[in-house]
Amino acid sequence: SIYLDYNASSPVEPRVLEAMVDIYKNNFGNADSRTHDFGDHARSVVETARKQVSSLLGVSTSEVFFTSGATESNNIAIQGLQTYALESGKNHIITTSIEHKAVMETVKVMSERGFIVDFIDPESSGRINVAKVLKKVCANTLLVSLMHVNNETGIIQPVKELGEELSKQNVLFHVDATQSCGKLVQEIRELKYNMLSFSAHKLRGPQGVGVLVLRKKEYKLPPVKAIMYGGQQEHGIRPGTIPVALVGGCGKACEIAEIEYKKDEAKLSAIKMSLLKLLEDSGLSYSFNGDQKYCLNNTLNLCLHGVSSEALMISTKQYCSVSNGSACTSKNYSPSYVLVSMGIPIEQIENSIRISWGPETNMGELEKEFFRMLSVAKSLAE
Ligand code: PLP
Repeated sequence: SIYLDYNASSPVEPRVLEAMVDIYKNNFGNADSRTHDFGDHARSVVETARKQVSSLLGVSTSEVFFTSGATESNNIAIQGLQTYALESGKNHIITTSIEHKAVMETVKVMSERGFIVDFIDPESSGRINVAKVLKKVCANTLLVSLMHVNNETGIIQPVKELGEELSKQNVLFHVDATQSCGKLVQEIRELKYNMLSFSAHKLRGPQGVGVLVLRKKEYKLPPVKAIMYGGQQEHGIRPGTIPVALVGGCGKACEIAEIEYKKDEAKLSAIKMSLLKLLEDSGLSYSFNGDQKYCLNNTLNLCLHGVSSEALMISTKQYCSVSNGSACTSKNYSPSYVLVSMGIPIEQIENSIRISWGPETNMGELEKEFFRMLSVAKSLAE
């Protein structure tokens, strides 16, 4: 069976796991218990991880805050601005209709609390048009939140261009980089943003840990306040005992990504080429969801014409773990809101699957199982 759902979660890299086991065995202290060596050693694991993260992202260690994952980071980045919004009188948020629920649902709650939220739809390419975002910016605009890479389509968003423009205005810019962190390494380093989120488990780190970067502008962090209260961990931005082994695993995953991302990139691209070749040779009628010119090389969101994605996934689930990138239960199927907002017809969405892979995906095995899946698709095609 081959795992092709890396955008949902990636397997933990063996060196990350090894580092984590070592921490669990030997570094079980509380990083904030500083009255003994156990605490000091745990603290040093956390600070090493902070260095590894900051080195990958090209930011300073004082700009890196550990959280439980991108969902929490996104919530802090957005909800954490409420006090500042009251003080400044700014109550307008701009985001897009293709964001992950962790942003989407958070801004919806903000709109219930009196914020005005604009959702920008993507073009049919799956990309957000920068001019459309900028047109909405006004004196009351507090925040613009745009993801770097969409989790369903793999389409890279123009965060670079938007960041350049917004940096000239008095508007905060948040980037959800969950799908790009560790992959678009150089691009992230060059971005202009105030806040950035990601989860370790999308770059072969453990689940349950992530990062919120708060960039210091003129040596000051963005006006974000905690949304949970308790201890002073992570400067009070994220209170609660620091999960040392998870944080250590996150750091190690970032370190590996920094060293190996170029090599990984070549592997990911080679896999994509091979999938496209098999697809072409299959004789199936297909189309891509999203303009492939902007697509990350680890994702393929594909419509196999006349082949129900649900039927295909049920028939092939023993050996191929793809997804349709949307909430799908036997009771209610809801078509992907991302694909809907790109203007893709419902019939086409119902025939769409998302395939996502990683650097350790075995090419031979992948070709074998993908070929098998395409054969089943042919038999299902209407
Ligand atoms: N943002 C994006 C773009 C994602 O793809 C995900 C995970 O699927 C998240 C946020 C949320 O990450 P987590 O569930 O680890 O908090």
